[in-house]
Amino acid sequence: MDLRNCPRCGRLFTYISKNLCPVCIEEDEKEFKKVKEYVWAHRGCSAVEVHEATGVSLEKILNYLREGRLEARGLKGPLLFCESCGEPIDQGRFCPKCSDQLVRGLKGEENSKKPSYSTGSGKEKNKMYLADRIIRR
Ligand SMILES: [Zn+2]
Ligand SMILES: [Zn+2]
Repeated sequence: MDLRNCPRCGRLFTYISKNLCPVCIEEDEKEFKKVKEYVWAHRGCSAVEVHEATGVSLEKILNYLREGRLEARGLKGPLLFCESCGEPIDQGRFCPKCSDQLVRGLKGEENSKKPSYSTGSGKEKNKMYLADRIIRR
């Protein structure tokens, strides 16, 4: 039996698949449901509004978006940026163009057209200070 302390509440629990105790997993589900329902009822609201209304942290809300559990389309965006080119995206990690290129790259069809890579230095910041920017908005 794999006993662990829950990283969130410190309770001792039996580890199965998630590194959270059953109480926190349930809590997490409830929070996600709250966020989802709020976004559904208030299309076009900002992530900060959702955070203030539901009490769920901005980081968690952004994580829902990254995981694709929540669609950013209901929110005032953009909230996420493509990890390759920095374009604003609705969900996931890459814009449709880059995910397409990634798939092609994996298939070894690189001679079709070289993607124009940006240096990324300026755009990297978008990602780094994402939460920061949202708070200041
Ligand atoms: Zn817990
Ligand atoms: Zn992209």
